[in-house]
Amino acid sequence: MPFADITGHEQSISLLQASLRNGRLAHAYLFYGEARVGKLMTAVRLAQTLNCEQSSQTEAQDSCGHCRSCLQIAARTHPDYFVIEPDPKAATPQIKIEQVREIEQQFVYRPLVGERKICLIDDADRLTIGAANALLKTLEEPPGHSLFILITSRLHALPITIRSRCQALRFTTPARTQVEAALILKRELSPADARFLAVFADGRIGEALTANLADVRARQQECLTLVKPDSLRSSTTILSASENLAKTDRGEETLVWLTRWIRDLVIVIVDGDQDQILHYDQLADLRRYAQRADIDALLTLLNDIERTEQQSTRHLNVQMTLETTFLRLRDALGLVPAGASA
Ligand SMILES: [Zn+2]
Repeated sequence: MPFADITGHEQSISLLQASLRNGRLAHAYLFYGEARVGKLMTAVRLAQTLNCEQSSQTEAQDSCGHCRSCLQIAARTHPDYFVIEPDPKAATPQIKIEQVREIEQQFVYRPLVGERKICLIDDADRLTIGAANALLKTLEEPPGHSLFILITSRLHALPITIRSRCQALRFTTPARTQVEAALILKRELSPADARFLAVFADGRIGEALTANLADVRARQQECLTLVKPDSLRSSTTILSASENLAKTDRGEETLVWLTRWIRDLVIVIVDGDQDQILHYDQLADLRRYAQRADIDALLTLLNDIERTEQQSTRHLNVQMTLETTFLRLRDALGLVPAGASA
């Protein structure tokens, strides 16, 4: 696949292509920015471009995506291409010194087919101190035929010594409209679904492209059912829903959905930026709620949910938090409990 397949990051890509064209590619790059915005994909495309067997593509400083070399890089079987990453199954995922040593030994030799040996280090902030020191030695005197691409979404967690040895490229979150366009093109989604997923993923294209739309829509529907006036008026519904959600481990997720729904409602009340509204297809309903809602109560509720989540992610009493949130939401929306005399 060519670079054009990547959503956003035009500046970083054109800088890389200009460097390729002028033979000025650095020996070490650091791609940093939020998770799942396209850093890894860009790194893979760069590796493919350096080795692509379609020479016409190579002149354009791009890759074809389907020659043997491009496929081998995608499958991580190319003889000059190495990927280091933390073991995702480990309790504390780390990149260990042995992994870096293995690369060092490989990089003593010249590349087997291409001009460069390429080492991609994903989640580079997970290097142990020993591994970082070992890598630093290599980065200080990189073999002429080497290319290191370090990737991180936690720049501050990477030793400054490593950072200073790399040419850093910042990857920003693509615009929502870009993500939407990519979803319509690549996933053939309807404009409404594309908009919904783009806002849901907060511009994280990787997330938007892989999220299971049916699942996300089901969660949305569940949240919308829970905030219906009939559900909120019934204390029995509130209590049993909170208990069930806490039991099935989906409580915290529901809390996130509730938070986003309340935020949408606040945006509607203050006539804010509709681009940020997740439940855009519920706009008519949101406007109806807005007429009777107490904005102060909603804002306080949002703050309190946020504070609860920050304070005690580990020992959060999900069931109780959900119950309280529903009850306070009921009040804030001006709904009278069923059975109570108005
Ligand atoms: Zn190719």
